[in-house]
Amino acid sequence: MTCSESPWRATILTLFPDMFPGPLGVSLAGKALASGLWALEARDIRASATDRHRSVDDTPAGGGPGMVLRADVLAAAIDAADTGQSGPNDRPRLLMSPRGRPLTQSRVAELAAGPGPLIVCGRFEGIDERVIAARELEEVSIGDYVLSGGEVAAMVLVDACVRLLPGVMGKHASGTEESFSEGLLEYPQYTRPQEFEGRTIPEILVSGDHAKVAAWRQAEAEALTRARRPDLWAIKARQKRPKSTTDG
Ligand code: SAH
Repeated sequence: MTCSESPWRATILTLFPDMFPGPLGVSLAGKALASGLWALEARDIRASATDRHRSVDDTPAGGGPGMVLRADVLAAAIDAADTGQSGPNDRPRLLMSPRGRPLTQSRVAELAAGPGPLIVCGRFEGIDERVIAARELEEVSIGDYVLSGGEVAAMVLVDACVRLLPGVMGKHASGTEESFSEGLLEYPQYTRPQEFEGRTIPEILVSGDHAKVAAWRQAEAEALTRARRPDLWAIKARQKRPKSTTDG
């Protein structure tokens, strides 16, 4: 880094710090990590355990299967991460959780624009409810399915943020035209060869007419979104209505 400001940083609280950087250490995110465009800190929740056995979990109150991450241990881990750093303490504190608000590209863009989040990764049956309230954790889900732990979910979130950081993607424009950025899915992409197993690239894309190409892409993006994601299309249609009655 040439500037004096500290780079965007993700702090991960996990029982398995060895899982990081994992996939975040290769390709786009990995090169950016190596060159200091962002920073990653994986902290072991178990380091905050206080008893002889370094236990971090216990049986659920009220009975039932599995184990629950203890509130006191997790709170101590969060507090240690908050005080042990030079950066600002008002960073978003997230908890990866299937009960959370589904992650969207707009939330990703907000997180990428900030100092970088502290992310708690759950394990077992989840974590004691009281620490969510006491440390004001924002629950974030990556989809309606259940993972065995929050680490992979945290990697998804960090990967999505990192590619939006200044200097990470070669051409900055590639972040503004892709799926979800305009509330639409992305138009189809093609590259050489001109013919593949009898299928050719749409004529318009090789015409050199930029206005026609743009119009074709817009129409394709709209058709795809309407067919595959009626939920997104309904939002788009609502946004369009007050502005104009003409098609565009
Ligand atoms: N018993 C819990 C699931 C626990 S899964 C329930 O029914 O809600 C164990 C951990 O994996 C969770 O604490 C969370 O951190 C992570 N996890 C599982 N599914 C996830 C998802 N869809 N999004 C984000 N995190 C998830």
